[in-house]
Amino acid sequence: MRSLRSILVTGGAGFIGSTLVRQLLNRPDVEKITVLDALTNTGNSNNLKGPDQDPRFTFIEGDIRDQKRVSQSLIEHQCTAIMNLAAESHVDQSIEKPHDFIDTNVGGMMSILSAARPLNIPVLQCSTGKVYGSVNFPRRLDESARLRPSSPYSASKAGADLLIHAAHVTYGQDVVIARCTNIYGPRQHRDKLIPTLIFHALRDQPLPIYGSGQQIRDWIHVEDCAQGLIAALERGRPNRVYHLGSKTEHTNIGIARHILKHLHKPESLISHIEDRPGHDSRHALDPTLALNELRWRARIPFRSGFDHVVRELAAHLRPTEPA
Ligand code: NAD
Repeated sequence: MRSLRSILVTGGAGFIGSTLVRQLLNRPDVEKITVLDALTNTGNSNNLKGPDQDPRFTFIEGDIRDQKRVSQSLIEHQCTAIMNLAAESHVDQSIEKPHDFIDTNVGGMMSILSAARPLNIPVLQCSTGKVYGSVNFPRRLDESARLRPSSPYSASKAGADLLIHAAHVTYGQDVVIARCTNIYGPRQHRDKLIPTLIFHALRDQPLPIYGSGQQIRDWIHVEDCAQGLIAALERGRPNRVYHLGSKTEHTNIGIARHILKHLHKPESLISHIEDRPGHDSRHALDPTLALNELRWRARIPFRSGFDHVVRELAAHLRPTEPA
């Protein structure tokens, strides 16, 4: 078992990172959590309100591409592990600005690996099932599947995963990768699919759906995801990849309909827009290895978890009343 005594969470001010930080602080064996985050467009220090009151918590505004900064943070806080959640994470933006994604997701990974190596600090990488590209029904991919990323985002994540593998083979670094499916939950950035649909529905505006909306995604709650990341760091075997998924498949248009029903809005608000180039039609991960080796499985049922999250996000995204 790896120690959770003092963890550096890079990207901890983002959607998944801020939930991970909360869960780590709930653990009695955690003595110190240090968040290093550049607070880009998706990062927000408000996401860490609450955890920032814990005496075990420290926030550093900094960039994972700055290897010196990462090294200093590891040394100063006597870290026992790094969990990397820092990334450029929006697929649409990766099509507009692919260089930024390579810089952060690949260059940042290189810097983290280089900083961790001389200190013998294990690295847990939060990766994505998107690295495999589209998967035909009814197949589900295990961790040995070929990487065939379709977007600059998923290619940059695949590039980072390959660097991690090479760091283990070449230098013997202790590394683990968790490839997550689609995640829903509180504090997700407004520009992502679910918050966007809720935002528009609350204003009776058209809900933009790419193409037919028949793209299939597997969804897990962010709390389940964070549990899986912790399990992968604690119990994951060196240089192993683990799939964090739940086999809960929904089409994007199904998600939109669910939101509209929950918010008592008409389905006529759904508006089909031109499909995204390189849009994967289906993602499907087989999470059996995570169950067998990490004893992890997604526990929050989609039905209740999703309704709760729609309510929570809607409370923040409602139009403010004119004064
Ligand atoms: P997010 O965009 O909400 O958070 C990313 C965080 O990283 C932000 O706080 C941002 O400020 C920070 N960041 C970006 N560039 C940085 C840099 N150069 N240096 C330091 N900090 C930087 O993303 P998220 O949805 O929380 O995703 C976290 C990780 O999980 C990412 O690696 C993403 O690829 C992966 N992932 C996400 C999902 C999902 O559905 N959200 C699914 C699978 C995998």
